[in-house]
Amino acid sequence: MIVVKNVRILGGEPADIRIDQGVIAEIGQGLSGGEEIDGGGAVALPGLVDLHTHLREPGREDAETVQTGTRSAARGGYTAVHAMANTSPVADTAGVVEQVWRLGREFGHCDVHPVGAVTVGLEGRQLAELGAMADSAARVRVFSDDGRCVDDAVLMRRALEYVKAFDGVVAQHAQEPRLTQGAQMNEGVVSGRLGLTGWPAVAEEAIIARDCLLAAHVGSRLHVCHVSTAGSVEIIRWAKSKGWDVTAEVTPHHLLLTDDLVEDSPVGAYNPIYKVNPPLRTRADVEALRAALADGTIDIVATDHAPHPVEDKETEWSAAAMGMVGLETALSVVQEAMVETGLLDWAGVAQRMSAVPARIGRLSGQGQPLEEGAPANITLYDPSARTVVDPSAFASKSRNTPYEGMTLPGRVVATFLRGRPTVLEGKLV
Ligand SMILES: [Zn+2]
Repeated sequence: MIVVKNVRILGGEPADIRIDQGVIAEIGQGLSGGEEIDGGGAVALPGLVDLHTHLREPGREDAETVQTGTRSAARGGYTAVHAMANTSPVADTAGVVEQVWRLGREFGHCDVHPVGAVTVGLEGRQLAELGAMADSAARVRVFSDDGRCVDDAVLMRRALEYVKAFDGVVAQHAQEPRLTQGAQMNEGVVSGRLGLTGWPAVAEEAIIARDCLLAAHVGSRLHVCHVSTAGSVEIIRWAKSKGWDVTAEVTPHHLLLTDDLVEDSPVGAYNPIYKVNPPLRTRADVEALRAALADGTIDIVATDHAPHPVEDKETEWSAAAMGMVGLETALSVVQEAMVETGLLDWAGVAQRMSAVPARIGRLSGQGQPLEEGAPANITLYDPSARTVVDPSAFASKSRNTPYEGMTLPGRVVATFLRGRPTVLEGKLV
């Protein structure tokens, strides 16, 4: 039995939480008994749930493993992550998703829910064994070719139809491939000045519009990965106004960073640390994404944690890998972009980083409100802390963060997974 003393649930009045056998047994004042942990007035949130994590195992264990990735997740306050399918081999069969699921059970510092590929080998030619993955021990409910777009409309329609049988969802990486051939950064004023091939907003927006229409046509569930443009927000707002079952995510980096960092940043011009897919967009896009996350048009924050080894990032811009690590800075970036700006309170953050992602992924034991009888998945967060981001302190195997040296607000103090601490005093247990 553990009693966590002096925490503020969703930023409310001070309270104590008694945890017994993995469950929140009692919430009240002056609780005692068992092991006592001083919460120090930290904000208590339901354990965070990430719908979009790249754990890289199997195949790229030099970038991340299930063990290091889930350590990174726990340090970021996460109690569950969805592991994307673009591994090697691709997670496109029951065998591979079960392998990842087992690695999660054995080495995970949080729950690991494998995402299944939509198409065999992510090649966009033939549907993967969606039903077999859904029926497997991994019980896959989220399917995505993330990293690539399911651009064939017939395949996308079939996938949307297929997942209805088991209440699954297709999570689309919306990127029209022909419109983004050779694209290096957001298409706009900055790409023009730098002479880099542009990545037009319409390449994202055209796929989102098509997929919303397809999902409505077959009466299925669509989830839009990492929305990055103001136009995408408008399309999703329209789809939701029709009552269609469309959800969307935004990454922390798209809520904070803009494309002019490619030209001028604290780490110089053309620094591939800012190279990411979808690309960083403009200030106007960032403002639209923040407003959309605040008003619910965008449902959730998902990290798109994309670890890469140094040699894949510290190279010339055009050759560098796309992506950023994000698990250990997500909550701080959301505080900076959404809470400090008055757009969200802690209850709003809990909805968008725990409850709703768990619902989209159809996870039963995660994302529940901190109430008596709920599983004790709890994140304790001190929003008054100020931290200079030091990638060498990351639990992730990779260091490709755009926030190095930046002072960000807040610090994850502790994380509890079904009552068991995975992080205490900011350190892995
Ligand atoms: Zn993606």
